[in-house]
Order: sequence, then structure tokens, then C-alpha cells
Amino acid sequence: MATKIIYFTVNGRPEQAEFPVDCSAQDVKDLFRSAAEAGPHDILKLYNPKGNIINISLSLEPNSPDCCYKLEVVAADCNSEPLGAELAGALGYDLSSLEKSSLLVCGLRLQGLEKNILMEAGETPAAVYEMKKQVESFQEKLESVEHLSWLGLFKDLSEGSHKPSPFYHKRTLHKTRAECEHVREKFLQMSSLEMSEEVRQYLKTPTFDNWQWEDAEIMVLLQVMYTDLDFIVSFNIEPEVLQQFLFEVYRRYNNIPFHNFKHCFCVTQMMYGLIWLTDLKSKMDAVDLLVMLTSALCHDLDHTGYNNAYQINARTDLALRYNDISPLENHHCAVAFEILEKTESNIFRNLSMDQYKRIREGIIKCILATDMTRHNEVLNQFKSILPTFDLTNKDHRDVLMMVLIKVSDISNEARPMEVAEPWLDCLLQEFYNQSDKEKLEGLPITPFMDRDKVTKPSSQTGFIRFVLLPLFIELANLFPCLEQHLIDPVRKALDYYTEMEKALEREKQNRAQSDSAVKSPQSAALPEAGPEASEPEPQ
Ligand code: 5GP
Ligand code: MN
Repeated sequence: MATKIIYFTVNGRPEQAEFPVDCSAQDVKDLFRSAAEAGPHDILKLYNPKGNIINISLSLEPNSPDCCYKLEVVAADCNSEPLGAELAGALGYDLSSLEKSSLLVCGLRLQGLEKNILMEAGETPAAVYEMKKQVESFQEKLESVEHLSWLGLFKDLSEGSHKPSPFYHKRTLHKTRAECEHVREKFLQMSSLEMSEEVRQYLKTPTFDNWQWEDAEIMVLLQVMYTDLDFIVSFNIEPEVLQQFLFEVYRRYNNIPFHNFKHCFCVTQMMYGLIWLTDLKSKMDAVDLLVMLTSALCHDLDHTGYNNAYQINARTDLALRYNDISPLENHHCAVAFEILEKTESNIFRNLSMDQYKRIREGIIKCILATDMTRHNEVLNQFKSILPTFDLTNKDHRDVLMMVLIKVSDISNEARPMEVAEPWLDCLLQEFYNQSDKEKLEGLPITPFMDRDKVTKPSSQTGFIRFVLLPLFIELANLFPCLEQHLIDPVRKALDYYTEMEKALEREKQNRAQSDSAVKSPQSAALPEAGPEASEPEPQ
């Protein structure tokens, strides 16, 4: 269908409107009204580049971004408005029907009315004064939660990455008190509001895009997971305790490129998605589900960005404390129970001793299973029980839970490419930081972290072929529906990185050929004689 695109600015912000050439004049007016976030009684004025007012109609001349129109919103004359009725409606605290812009307009009209009364009567009547106070306080309330548009109808789920935290440029390894308080306040403001059904459903899918959400919003999403799995009711978890627990978890993830709070969220969200996709909610005990979700949430607590090999080689405090046995995983788990030891953040505080014991044992087992040096051990255990797999067998359930957290932990490549690829950049950034430190400190260099040897595709092709797929395929043997949700996107990622690897290889060869052509025109005809031919391949 033929459409028209009109470029314009509103409050200095560039916008563009697209509408079919056969739509109604009213549709065009409404389109501009919504672009300007104008209320139904506001007057819109559109100016052309010459400064003349032009009609907002179907016959608008199409323009280009460098020759755009200017849109202005003018509050309607307060005398022509049923002000009392509108204000009463606005102050009826009907949040869903109110937009911030119309409230601002109310405030402006009220100012106008107050001015008229002052001129005539000499003082502000109590009723107007009271109304003014209420409008101001409501406006303040709306402004403090304006980032909440997503809780209603207005979250555009196709919007790009979230802007970085205001603390982004002054980040320290451990989160500062100010940084935590800022997020906590936002989280608490949002936590009591209802989330849309659309987001609740989307949260259950592996295609969920974490990059659209800031940390306070992520905490609300985590709260929704505990609610929608019925944990709040089944385990009598007080909302304030869950909030405090989530806040402590947020606080104890560090500001590092990969093993941060967003990674914790992704792993938890994948676990949540797997529970729904495989219908484990109706097949497993709620205690096991609680173990799985909470283990995912806590599995990398207080990670500092350097893996176990570094901890052991550098003889860090962690390696000494845990005698080189999974120092990181032991630490993540210990921090989890440090948080749970505090009554105000102990989401298990209303459980029986027996239940608590079972949960503690389960969480320890799950978190310790995320040490990748135990990958083959856990995978082989799973393979050996698969032919006779039985959910009523506790040993089988335990292995399944370990496999599920492992799958969730390394599941970035099962997500859409635009979600997964930034995660690889984060991972390599953390890997390169470690190998730089190893070089600086004269320690053995972890080969898959060496910036001189590893590239994005070389890192992924081997990992997907030899680690990810063998594990995911076994899980899909048990739950065939995962073929489509996990295996297919991983295979696509493998193709993508295989192509990238080939392209890089071709580029390298071309560069080698043109280099040798510059150095010695004769030898360029014989590429196999060039120095690059005998260079070892990166791993
Ligand atoms: P984690 O440290 O997150 O608990 O355990 C997962 C480990 O698996 C990571 O530290 C990392 O070494 C590895 N890993 C996870 N995802 C990827 C990936 O997409 N590519 C590569 N090369 N390694 C990954
Ligand atoms: Mn992890």
C-alpha cells in the first residue's frame, strides 16, 4: 500500500510519521497528536520550514529529514474547557487513563485559572489551592515512575538497548552504596505495579531480550518469576522479604563485563523458560523448582571476572580458602547463604527445617555443578540415566537439575543473534582482561582467553560444537520440544560463526598475499612459499 512519510520535530526531537495515502484526515491528525503526546483538547500547530502554519491533513507535502516541519502543542484555552470535570477525572487517581502530558496541561490550565481568580478576587480560594497541590503531587508521582511506561500498554518491545546506568562511567568493581540505593528506590517504586500479560508471557520464552531492561526493571521481572511459579503462596514468602533478597542478590553481583547481574538474570530467565517449555511446573515438586530458580539467580554471586584457573595459579584468597576445589562456585554458593542467613532477606524463613535442609542441599549441588571443569562428568551421568529416566527417582531428578542449570548457564547462543552477540563481546572482554593480567603477572596464560589467539568465531565454533551442542542435544532427547527452541538457534549461530571464521581466514590470506607482493613481487605468485603458510592456526 502507498504511504507518505513526513519528517518533523516536536520539542526539538526529530520524529517521522508514516501513513497510508488513503487513510482519513482524522487519522493523520491523531497520528501527529500522539507523536506530540498531546491531550485531546490541545491545539496542534504545524509550521513549514518557511515558518508558515500549515494544515495537518492528507494533502501534506512529503518532505525530507533535512527540510522538516515543526510541530508545536498549545494548551487549549482554559475558559473553553470543562476544567472541573477534567480535573476531577484526573484526580480520581485513574492511573491507567492518565498520561503525564495531559497532567502537565492540567497544571498549566490550573495556573491560568488561578491567575484569573487572583486578578478578580485578590486571593487563591482554598478549593483551587487544594486542587493545585494535588495536581503537583500527582505530577511528581508520575514523573518519578515515568520509566514505567512498560508496565502498561506503552512498552515498545522492539526498542533498542537500554541506556547505561547513570553510574556507568564511575563504576567500581563492587557496587557503591549510591548506585545500589538508586536502583533499589526505582525497584521499590515499580514493584507494586501490575505487569502486562504480554510481558509475562514473553518472559517465559528463550527469545526474551535482556538488553531492553534496566536493572531495577530486571528485579521486577525476577519478582514476577517467583510470583508466577506460585512460590510466594506455596512457601509463604513475604513480598518485602523477596524484595530485600532480590536487592541483596543485585548488590552482590559486581560491575564486570560478563559475570554481572544481567548474566544472572539471563541464566535465571532461561531456567524459568525451560520450566515452562517442558511443563516441569506440573511434573516436579515446587521445592525442586524453587531450588532451580534460586540456584540460577545465585550461581555467579560476587564473581570478580577471573576464572578458577586464575584463582588457583595466582593463589588467591579464594583458592586458599577452598583448597583449589571449585573456588569460585564454592564462593558463589557461600555468598548466597550469607544473604539467606539474614532474616530480612531469607525467602526460606517460613519453611520447615526439613524443607530448608532439602533446599540447601539442592542449591549447593546445582551451583557447584556449574564449574565447567565438571562438564563431562555431569553430562556422562545424565547420558547414563537417560534410557531409564524417571522423575520419581531422586538421583535422576538431581542430575536433571544440574543439567538444567548448566544449560541455562551457557545458553546465550540459543537466544536471537541480536541478543547473543553482545554477550559474546562481553565474554571476550572479560577473557582478554584475564589473559592480560596473566601476562602481566607472569602466570600461565589461559589459551582460550588470549587476545592474540582468540577471535569471536574461533571462540564460538569450537565451544558450540564440542560443549554446547552435545549437552543441549541430550536434554532435547528427554524433552523433544527443546529441539526447536534451543537446538535450532544454536545451529544457526554455528553456521553464522563458521561463515565468519571462513571470511576472516580469506581476509588473512589476502592480506598475506598483498603483503608479500609488496615485499617481493616474484614470490607473490607462489603463496604456499610465503611465511604465513607455516603459521599455526589459532585454536
Ligand atoms: P559461568 O562462569 O558463567 O558460571 O560458566 C560458564 C562458562 O562457560 C563461562 O565462564 C565461559 O568460560 C563458558 N561459556 C559460556 N558461554 C560461552 C560462549 O558463548 N562461548 C564461549 N567460548 N564460552 C562460553
Ligand atoms: Mn554463569
